Amino acid sequence: MRSRYSAFCLGKVNYLVETLHADKRQLDDVAILKQSIKETQWLGLKIIRHKIQNQEATVEFVGFYQDKPIGQLHEKSRFIKQDGKWLYIDGEQLPTIKLARNEQCFCGSGRKFKKCHATD
Ligand SMILES: [Zn+2]
Repeated sequence: MRSRYSAFCLGKVNYLVETLHADKRQLDDVAILKQSIKETQWLGLKIIRHKIQNQEATVEFVGFYQDKPIGQLHEKSRFIKQDGKWLYIDGEQLPTIKLARNEQCFCGSGRKFKKCHATD
């Protein structure tokens, strides 16, 4: 999950396609991913919970991206392990979350949210 997020930030499209489950790959994956990476500036990632059961895992996370106000991708993703590699299957989109003003900011600055990326 974190490695896929880093790949998004760094624009490593091939890695993203390789870690996509074979059944879910489309011919236009690379073009779609390139477009999405060009348009989105990711600021941080917050893992809310994850569960691993045998060869399957779910990860609920929120990815934050530059927008006004800050954009959120809140998703519960499903992964499956094949030949020792976790592959992304699909994700369920969830509503945006509210951040507590005193919690650490998602961007990794080490500062409180209210003193960093909070806009109000
Ligand atoms: Zn911040």
